[in-house]
Amino acid sequence: NNYQHVALIIGVTGIVGNSLAEILPLSDTPGGPWKVYGVARRPQPSWNADHPVQYIQCDVADGKETSAKLSPLTDITHIFWVTWANFPTEAECCKVNGGMLQNVLDAVMPNAPNLSHICLQTGHKHYIGPFEAFGKIKPHETPFVEDVPRLDVINFYYTLEDIAMEACKKKQGLTWSSHRAAVIFGFSPYSKMNLIGSLCVYAAICKHENVPFKFPGTKAAWNCYSVASDADLIAEHQIWSAVDPNGKNEGFNCSNGDLFKWKHMWKILAEQFELEYIEFDENEPYVSLTERMKDKGPVWDEIVKINNLEATKLEEVATFWFADVIFGFECMLDSMNKSKEHGFLGFRNTKYSLISVIDKMKSHKIVP
Ligand code: NDP
Repeated sequence: NNYQHVALIIGVTGIVGNSLAEILPLSDTPGGPWKVYGVARRPQPSWNADHPVQYIQCDVADGKETSAKLSPLTDITHIFWVTWANFPTEAECCKVNGGMLQNVLDAVMPNAPNLSHICLQTGHKHYIGPFEAFGKIKPHETPFVEDVPRLDVINFYYTLEDIAMEACKKKQGLTWSSHRAAVIFGFSPYSKMNLIGSLCVYAAICKHENVPFKFPGTKAAWNCYSVASDADLIAEHQIWSAVDPNGKNEGFNCSNGDLFKWKHMWKILAEQFELEYIEFDENEPYVSLTERMKDKGPVWDEIVKINNLEATKLEEVATFWFADVIFGFECMLDSMNKSKEHGFLGFRNTKYSLISVIDKMKSHKIVP
């Protein structure tokens, strides 16, 4: 065959994995034409099946299964790590996420002689610390820049980087990069953290029940400057690192390159769901989105039924706890200078990023 590069996406149905699955096979993608393998545990969902990837059902936390299913793929040149496992403690997160990456490297490295790069998807928690440390340790100064020392806490992002660096020492010509995203705006009903997907579901429920579409967060989150990372942009950033010598052996922030305020995005969300736009009212008590939505499972089932949507469960398609985290505080900003100085000039207008995710949620019939 005449493929220049062969990708292995671990987490192909996730919020960035689905974007990589869409973009990598396109004829004008840098480094193309790409052949693409995509891994996840569940069977391939319909919204992922249009992408020309070889879908492999595999639990990479299981070393034996990973070896059996991935060691025969001898043509892999690039690994895109866009997955994670969540556990109550960061110690467990380090153990399991590190073990997953190690399982994949153990299966691929001895068998794929042309393996040349590992892209790691991480995020702002690199600078803030893991969820369990929120409010307990002092995060880095904003705007976040890449070349600061690590925080003095364990973090599975550090574990992933250490494992990748160790692998690169063992194989000549193998390089790594990490892509530190802010909150991601992307399409995946299977994602463990999908802010916009959750807000679309919330909007659909407000509309269905004919109740006001209130911002379920703090005044700080409503008014502050925020940053976000478009999932397609992250995919482009990873592909840049995969093929450009300037994108290697470094960590890079990866955000849209603009600033926005939730008070403005709320108007767009309201418009897209034909809801009335309501200003934040600081006289009302704070009620988390999790609390607001806690009994809405049957309501969601009803919405799915009457609108003929893809069959989904509320707890699968919405991750309200994550919205509560994002809307609980003032957003922490990052800098894209390092990426630009190294030659990545991609950006997104966050307003259009939001609209494009909502469009995908509707066109795939996840929300009405
Ligand atoms: P998602 O939850 O969106 O996707 C995870 C993907 O991995 C899915 O395809 C899932 O499918 C698959 N997967 C999960 N466990 C396994 C397993 N054991 N074996 C094989 N496949 C598996 O991930 P994200 O893109 O959100 O997360 C990637 C990184 O990005 C994380 O470190 C996260 O902290 C970081 N990040 C995410 C942000 C966001 O807004 N989502 C913001 C900033 C950083 P299946 O369940 O079927 O296996």
